Parts: sequence; C-alpha cells; structure tokens
Amino acid sequence: MNRVRCLVLNAALGPLDYKVPDGMRVELGQVVECPLGPRTVVGIVWEAERLPGTDVPAEKLRNLRGLYPIPPLPAPLRRLIEWTADYYVASLASVARMALSSGGALKGPASITEYRLSGGMPERLTPQRQAAMEALEGEQATIRELAGIAGVSEGVLRGLVNQGVLEPVEVDCDRPYDEARPDFAQIELSDQQREAAGIFSEAVRAEKFAPFLLDGVTGSGKTETYFEPVAEALRMGRQVLVLLPEIALTENFLHRFEERFGTAPVLWHSSLKSTERRRAWRSVSSGEAQVVVGARSALFLPFANLGLIVVDEAHETSFKQEDGVRYNARDVAVMRAHFEQFPIILASATPALESLQMAESGIYAKVELPSRFGGAQLPGIDIVDLTEEKPPQGMWLAQRVVDGIAERLERGEQSLLFLNRRGYAPLTLCRHCGFRFQCPNCTAWLVEHRFTRRLACHHCGHATPSPAACPECGEPDCLVACGPGVERIADEVAERLPEARVFVATSDTLNSPGRAAEFIAAVEAKEIDVIVGTQLVTKGFHFPELTLVGVVDADLGLEGGDLRAGERTYQQVAQVAGRAGRGSKPGEVLIQTRHPEANVIAALAAGDRDAFYSAETEMRRDAGAPPFGRWASIIVSSEDETEAREAARRIGDTRPDVPDCMILGPAPAPMSLLRGRYRYRLLMNARRSVQLQDVIRQWLGRLDHPPGVRVAVDVDPYSFV
Ligand code: ADP
Ligand code: ZN
Repeated sequence: MNRVRCLVLNAALGPLDYKVPDGMRVELGQVVECPLGPRTVVGIVWEAERLPGTDVPAEKLRNLRGLYPIPPLPAPLRRLIEWTADYYVASLASVARMALSSGGALKGPASITEYRLSGGMPERLTPQRQAAMEALEGEQATIRELAGIAGVSEGVLRGLVNQGVLEPVEVDCDRPYDEARPDFAQIELSDQQREAAGIFSEAVRAEKFAPFLLDGVTGSGKTETYFEPVAEALRMGRQVLVLLPEIALTENFLHRFEERFGTAPVLWHSSLKSTERRRAWRSVSSGEAQVVVGARSALFLPFANLGLIVVDEAHETSFKQEDGVRYNARDVAVMRAHFEQFPIILASATPALESLQMAESGIYAKVELPSRFGGAQLPGIDIVDLTEEKPPQGMWLAQRVVDGIAERLERGEQSLLFLNRRGYAPLTLCRHCGFRFQCPNCTAWLVEHRFTRRLACHHCGHATPSPAACPECGEPDCLVACGPGVERIADEVAERLPEARVFVATSDTLNSPGRAAEFIAAVEAKEIDVIVGTQLVTKGFHFPELTLVGVVDADLGLEGGDLRAGERTYQQVAQVAGRAGRGSKPGEVLIQTRHPEANVIAALAAGDRDAFYSAETEMRRDAGAPPFGRWASIIVSSEDETEAREAARRIGDTRPDVPDCMILGPAPAPMSLLRGRYRYRLLMNARRSVQLQDVIRQWLGRLDHPPGVRVAVDVDPYSFV
C-alpha cells in the first residue's frame, strides 16, 4: 500500500487519504499519525471501499507522519465500530474513539515516577501536611493523583517530596498482571449448575457465535456457573470480558473471582487512573490480559483474542449510555460476539423483555437455573396496602414493617429497606410563602441531603448549603421537607426502633471500592441491623443473615409512566426481594403500595413472573413498541430557549412522510431544562420493516443548525425525560 484511507478521530472531518512514505509498512487497522494543517491527528487505516471519500490525486497527498506502537485494530472490531455507528446514527469517529480510550496507551512502552510515603517526618508538621499524610497512607500514585486523593495542592506534596517524606518509585507502565489460573480452586457445582456450565463450556470450545440467556432466580449461583466457561476460555488461551452494570458492585465479585482463579481480574471503568488505564488497555490489545471486568465502556477495547463475553445483570438500564454515542452495551456485546464468532452469556434473574423475546423466537438459547443454590428458599412476598395500613402522621413505614424489623432485631437478623431516592427529602418548600427550591440549571427540585446539610440537584450536581431562612420571604425556620428519601427513612427507623443500628447505603456513602468493602464487612460482622438503600443494594450482595426486605414505595417507579415503567419496577422489586433469605433462614418481603391491584404488584405478590411478562409482551405488541416495533428519539437542545425551539420546529416541519413510521413532536421535553440547556423531543415509532436509521440520516443530514444547537439521536431509547 502506498496510499491509504484513514478514519481520523475528529467527528467533523470525513475520511482522509494519505501517502505512505518509503520504508513505512502499514496494515489495515493500524493507528497512525495524520498531518492535518499544522497539527497531527490520530487516524485509523480503514478499508477504502468501506469508507467513501473524495479521490484526491496522488500528487496532492501528504505523507503519514508515523505509526503508533500498538497492534492494528482487528477487522472484526472495525466491523463492530461500523455497525455501532450505523445502528445508533453516530459518527464513526466518535465510536472509534471509544476503542482508543487511553491516550497514554498509544505512546508505547514507558515508565513513570510515582510517589509513596517513606515513613519519614517533615521538619514542620503543619495540620495540612498531617492531614495529607494521613490521607496518603497506603497510596502510591503520581503527584497529581496524590494531590487529588489528599485534597491538597501539588505544591504541598512537592514540599513533602523535597523533605523526603514522599519517596519516588519508578514504575514500568506495562508490567504484567498476575496469571489467572483456570484450575486454582475446584468448586463443587450443583446438578443444575453443572448442566448449565457444561453447555456454556462446550460453546466456548466450539469457537462460534452462540448467544445465551442465563435465566436464573436470585441466589441460584449464576456467577459460579459462568465461571466455568470463563475457566474453559482461559485453558484455551482466550481472553474473557465480563460486563457488570455498576462498578460499585464489583467488590463482592472480585472477591469471588480471586477465590476461584487465584488473582484479581483486570479492571476497566471510567475512574481508573490514567496509568492503570494505559496498562489495562495495552495488555488487552497485546492479548496478555486474560479476564477483564468492566463497565460498559470495556466493550470497545481492542481485545486480541476474545473468546467469551458475559453480561451480568444484563437487564440493567445502566448498560445504556445516555450521552455521546447512545448505545446499549448489552446489544452491542451480542454483535461483538457475532463479528468475532464466540459465545455470549446474558445473565439475569429478571431478563429484559427484549432478551426473553429473543429466547422465545429461538435466536438466544435459554439456560435456566430454577432454584436457589444450597437449598435456600425464595422469600415469601406480602403486600402492605398503605391505604389500609396507614403509617403514623409524618411517617412512611406501616406498623407491620416496623414490627417485622423489630422481630429481626430480637433474633439478631438483619433487614433491608429499599427506596430509590437519595437524600432526605425530594422537595423542600417554605411553609410561610410556598417557595420551592428548584435547580437553576434543570427542571428539577433540589433534594435535601441532611448528612451534608446541602440542597443538591441529582441531574447536574448543583448544590447549595441548606439555608436557615427562606430565600424568598426571609422567614426563618420555615422550611419543610416533603416526601421521604433514604435518609429520612433511616431517621424514622432510628426514632421508632432506637436500639437498631441503621446504615444508609447509596452512591453517596458507598462511593469508592474501599467504602463498599467496609460496608460489606460491617454487615457480615453484624454491626448493622437495618440497611436503608437505593437501587445500589438491589443486586450483587449476598448477606445470609438478611431475612427481611421492605419496599418502602413500590409505586414510585410507576409514576413516570413510560413504556418500561412496569418492567423496571418488576425488576427492581424482584431483585431487592432476592436479597432476602439467601442463607439457611427463610426470607420475607413486604411491599408497601397504594395500588395493590396494579398488574406488576399483583404479579410480584403471586410470584408469577410469566404472567407479568406475557401481559407486558401483549401490551408492547399492541403499542408497536420494542421489540415488536422500532423507536427512536430526537433530542434538540440549546442554551438559548428560542434557538432550541426554532431548531426543533424546523426538524418537525421537514419530517419525512414514510409509510409505517409515525413521528410525534416536537414537544418540550419533560426535563425541559437540563444542565442549562433547553430541550425539545421528537419520538419516532415505526414498524420493524422500516429502515429507521436511513430515514433519520437522510432527514437530519439535510438540515443545518446554529452552532449552539445540539441534535442527539437515541435509537431504542430507555429514557424519555
Ligand atoms: P445469583 O447471582 O444467581 O443471585 P450468586 O452467584 O450470588 O447467585 O450465588 C448465591 C450464593 O451461593 C453465593 O454466596 C455463592 O457464593 C454461593 N454459591 C453458588 N454456587 C456455589 C457452589 N457451587 N458452591 C459453593 N457456593 C456456591
Ligand atoms: Zn440541576
């Protein structure tokens, strides 16, 4: 090749052609330095026939500047990038950027200087230095990262370096990871586990595309079951990717992984340090990393030799990315397995309706684990009708729930109260003038957080100290909290059962792996009697002494009323119910609701998953909703209200007339202001036969908007706000 076409990592540019200088050897997929004006941009050598561009005459081409010292992106990954860009109506460059997700990794072998405490003391121990030294106990990182950890300036730390309190350590950026050993620990599987594991392992050996739905009740031991095909892939020298929905949950997983394989897997998530990132990226692309456990962004890593993907808790909506390229990692993972020809396991106790439908139609093979491991029983579920069993004035828990917790306290067992609302109260208002605290950047109330004495927006992060007086009328001590959040429920438990030791478990309190580990240890050591938590505690945890689960408000999730509200509520409640009675003691679940007659509540009480899913399926079929029809949202936003409205109107006015395709809107979005941007939405609903993406590309491709306007396309949307 003496001339190549490159995909450059700049969404505004089309493909560019370059000349390959003498003596340079270039392959497809190679990551190259492309001159662009006075700058150099990162490019990927692509098949010219798959990437239409303008044919620049040879004598006008500029020379490639160089190659990055990393392996070329393999062809199946290039096909995955194309597929993702095409399906989600995104630019190739923005998808490709997700594969090249470590800037440092492109630079080749390197070492860096990290610092750690030497054990020495500074000449002058200021309070600031002392606090920094305490915070840095056991840490080793670059000065900048340590400054972040300790919450001090880099200057303070440089002072400590000069005094020998922090010592430098040369670190090879690409030092190898410990080896995971497929036969480190042999685990005795139950009969049903062994049968399932056998099916998966055989599929791994076959090295062919094979999608599985691992449908196992909570506590059935899905993790141990899919560890077997993981081991099989390792024996064959292939790499494995395990996707988890929430990286906060990995603590328990890592522990079990280490017991089974003798070492921790390679982690991938957004809060890795840049050095960890480059090390993981490079070992993934060299084929050295054996098992990668990660959040959805791990999906686009350039594995050299991937042989299996597991998506755990595959129904979780956090696999759906809601900004940038709006893709669903669960669905793209299946495509990756398809392009690279290996099996994929989607594991869940409450599969997405879409996944069940794929199993129904024979595209996915369903493998079931119908009973809990070790003879544990699924918990009994009871409804607490709040219209009859009213909590006392100003309180939120029915007496039956409080009695249930009291019983557990007496027996030395544990309880979990679930409410998917962080903070103390979702709305604060002034008793005197009726003023409501609203976010200046979003269509949202500020949520009171009493622990930190702040009012915070859960959408943009805006926060202010809780004021003593109303900012509107100036009346002191007149603010009232409306409705409960987890902190308020915790207060109520403490008030009604003063001897109970209560812990609030949310992303505010379990915000690091260390905090999560402490929490797990405290529950296991029985230092906590009652956990009050958000959806963070609905999955992954295994506490044998936890025998009561109370759902504070099962109706909460149904309020939004979007298409998946019923399904989401079912999944959440079933998952949190699944935390009860996982050991030898039986579990009990109490669901507080004002609508015991609602479909989803009745199905939960009756333990009749099939009835619920078939009713949901019929409803979706009637509505022409996914998976029976196609949906896509178009979200138009701008910091300028008029500009957003005008752009949305123009899009609406030019809507194409396509048979079997309905286009609704534009209408102000339910969150009509989000992070300072005004938002309008359109919704498309089409038959499956319609090439929806082509329609969107042609339609939106013809329109130009002012630079401040953003038009986002969301194919298979989950969020409608
Ligand atoms: P699930 O993910 O299906 O809800 P888990 O994988 O958390 O269930 O398993 C439930 C519990 O049973 C865990 O504590 C797990 O370690 C244990 N377990 C599952 N399978 C086995 C096995 N074969 N041998 C020993 N313990 C097991
Ligand atoms: Zn906000």
